Order: sequence, then C-alpha cells, then structure tokens
Amino acid sequence: MKKRELLLLAAMMLAMFSFSGCKDKSSDDEKGTDSNSDTDTTVAWDTNHAPDDVGDFGEFAKPPGDMDVKKVPQFVSIGFDDNGFVDSMKWILDFMKDKKNSDGTPARLSFYNATGYYKDDPTIGGEKYTSLDTADPEKLAAVWLRAYTEGHEVGNHTQNHRQAFNFWGDYEKGWTADDWRHEISTCNDTLVEIGIPREEIVGFRTPFLGYNDDLFTVLKELDMKYDCSIEEGWQYDQNGTNFNWPYDLKDGSQVDSLFLSWEPENTRETIGSHPGVWEMPMYPVVAPPDYKCAEYGIPAGLRTKMLKDVSYFGIEDGKVTGLDWNMVAGDEFSMNKAEVVATLKYTLDLRLKGNRAPFVWGAHTPNFSLDNTDFNPPNITILELREALEEFITYALSKKDVIIIPQKDILQWIQDHTPADSDTATDSDTAATDTDSGTDSDTAATDTDSGTDSDTATDSAK
Ligand SMILES: [Zn+2]
Repeated sequence: MKKRELLLLAAMMLAMFSFSGCKDKSSDDEKGTDSNSDTDTTVAWDTNHAPDDVGDFGEFAKPPGDMDVKKVPQFVSIGFDDNGFVDSMKWILDFMKDKKNSDGTPARLSFYNATGYYKDDPTIGGEKYTSLDTADPEKLAAVWLRAYTEGHEVGNHTQNHRQAFNFWGDYEKGWTADDWRHEISTCNDTLVEIGIPREEIVGFRTPFLGYNDDLFTVLKELDMKYDCSIEEGWQYDQNGTNFNWPYDLKDGSQVDSLFLSWEPENTRETIGSHPGVWEMPMYPVVAPPDYKCAEYGIPAGLRTKMLKDVSYFGIEDGKVTGLDWNMVAGDEFSMNKAEVVATLKYTLDLRLKGNRAPFVWGAHTPNFSLDNTDFNPPNITILELREALEEFITYALSKKDVIIIPQKDILQWIQDHTPADSDTATDSDTAATDTDSGTDSDTAATDTDSGTDSDTATDSAK
C-alpha cells in the first residue's frame, strides 16, 4: 500500500466516530491485505537510534523572513471540527476561559463548525452523507456564538459534511466549483445568521480532509484566507523538528504534488496557483521513541505496540495523523491517556528545539462529549481524554515561548513577518535575498542516521 493511501485511510476515518452510519468496510479490507507487507520495518528499527536530532531546514521549513528561530514564538493551534454537541463545547470553553499565554494574551482556539448541525439544507441533491442531528439547535448556536464572543475563532467546515471525493479509487469524481461554493457559502450564511460577523470567518477545513483544486479557487472567490486540510510533514527527511511552515498557495502545493507522485493511479490534477490563499497544514504528531518514553512518563515500547495495532505505522518515524481520532480510536492507535499526553508533549518539544513551525492538533468536540454514545475508544474514557488535553494545554502554557492562538491569528503573524516581496503573486520573489539563511543552517544538525532510515522508508513505501 502506498503511503498516500495510508494517509487517506487515516484521514477518511478521522471523522467517522460521530457518524455511526458511515463506517466503510473497505477500511478493514485495506488493513487486512496490508498486514504482511510492512513486517520487515520492525527489524529495521533500532531503539537506540536517535531519530529526533534537529533535521535540516529545507527551503520551506525556514521561519518567515528567515527569522532567527530563537525569536520565533512557538505557536500552538488546536482546532475542533464538527462541533455538534453542546456539553463538550461548554467544557472546553470553560477550561480555556481564564487561560493566558506567557505574553499575557488570552490563549484561544479555533472551531470549524459543520452548520448542518444547526439547520438542514433542503437544497442539496444526491447523497446526504450523514445527518447532522443535534438535540437542541438553539443551544448549539448559542454556544457557537459564545466561542466567538470569548475570542476563539469560528471557521467553516461546510454545511452538510459530505465527502468531497471518493477516497477509494474513484479519484476523478470530486466536487465541482459549484459544489464547493454551495457548501462553503451556505455554511458562512448560517454562521452569520447565528451572529458571527462574516468578515471574521476566514478559515476552512474540509470534511475528511478531501480537497481538489476547485476548492482553492472558491475559497479565494469567497474571501476566505486559508485552508487547513492538506497534510504536511510526512516527508521522509522531516521528523518533527523541521516540518515545513504554512505557505501561500501562489506557487501551488509542493506536498500535494509529492502525494500525487506516490500514487500514480490518481489522475487528479495537483493544486495550482492560488495567490493569497494560504495553507495552514495539518501535521502529524510523533510518538516518543523508546529512549524518550521514561522522560514522558510512559513505559518503553509505545511504537512497537502501535505497529502491532496499525500495520502502516512507520515505527522509525513515529508519525500519526495529528487528529484526536487517529490517536485513540479502536480502529487506529487506541492510545491510553498517558500515551496521548506523552505524544502531544513530545511533539511540541520537537518543535521547540527545531524550527518552530506551528504545532497544530485537530480534534472534534463530539469526541469529548459525554452525550455522544457513538464514540467509544477502547483504552481511554471521555473524561480521561478531556484530562489529557487539559494536561497538554497546561504544559504548553508553562513554556515561555508558547503562544496558543487561533489559526487566523497565526496566519496574520506569518504574513506580518513575511517580506513584502514574497507576498506578491509575481515571480520576482524567487530571487529573494537569503542573507540570514546561514544562521538557520547552522542550527540544522547533519542527520546522517535518519538519512538511512529515509531510504528504508522510501523503499518500503513503493
Ligand atoms: Zn468533520
């Protein structure tokens, strides 16, 4: 199985928890057929290996304007999707209410709402992927508005939460620009109806992380500033210390082209030029290697256990799609509370010693709801999952340079620190002077060992 298919498998499954009707049996088939092909990775991995040395900062991994990494805040973005349950919205808003960053600013989150929870859309035809039922739409609208008035970001996660394309082979069947326009503008209209100012709605995450080029054309047309659906950081030479920073789509998406090169049967065109629309990527989290486990309060052997649970897991790099569902659901890594906390803390610490690309974690408030009977992770209770996130947020806020703010504010900071000529859609910036780059490359330790691993991983992925 190719790496991208594996990612898509992970992405596909990320939101299934809240929609009991959408289990796709092909996911089991995929896992079943793959169970033998990756077993040799176990042998290749050496627990004494140090895979988290600071990696080389490639062109796209340098902080904006080639800033000295020590002067770059470590931004943390926690973005919740779907958000159809009142109790867990209240829980996280209550928890964040008095939380402050070390610079005194309020620590705040992002919420990407699927507005079908609030009201039905009678205009759609064809398949309605899921019913977004909620017990009390008015209470839900009130808590969504409360999130906004308390300084959190409210973003767009479509009206109907349908699949934008079929992950299982039919790559050509995807949403048209009209489909995107309808889903995104209807969601915006509904958010405005409940009291969110239209100009404050600038961020978008697509259901099941499914996207195509038309999405970005429509985001621009609708004055949306960013998407946060494209995964980043699965490159073999990136280990969590040197993930690429968010980027303007003026030159398309390098990582999307890479994904497509991993799956030649996919005839979808790669993402083209969309100047002014930014990608705030979804990054993997990284499970601690054995020699770090004790430091993070768990027994050695987490990665070995994870490989037993999920055959596509890369034991040498420890990466997991950076979403709550993938970490704890029984169909995926089934982590317990201590493992969730250790993985989140370790991932943040890799960033802090590396290039400080924003730490991004995607979650779903339905996964934190005591009223949602459809989500039952095997090794962690809902209350423990809440405690795990609370513990991580407290840990992050204890760090001097960490700033937890909405994605739209992280984007604003990046744009403010990006040289003016890089903001234009012209090509003149390709020759931008890189006078400071020497500083950054000094920080990037040579990582000859991980190069060996990369080769192994590349081979096994083909
Ligand atoms: Zn969703």
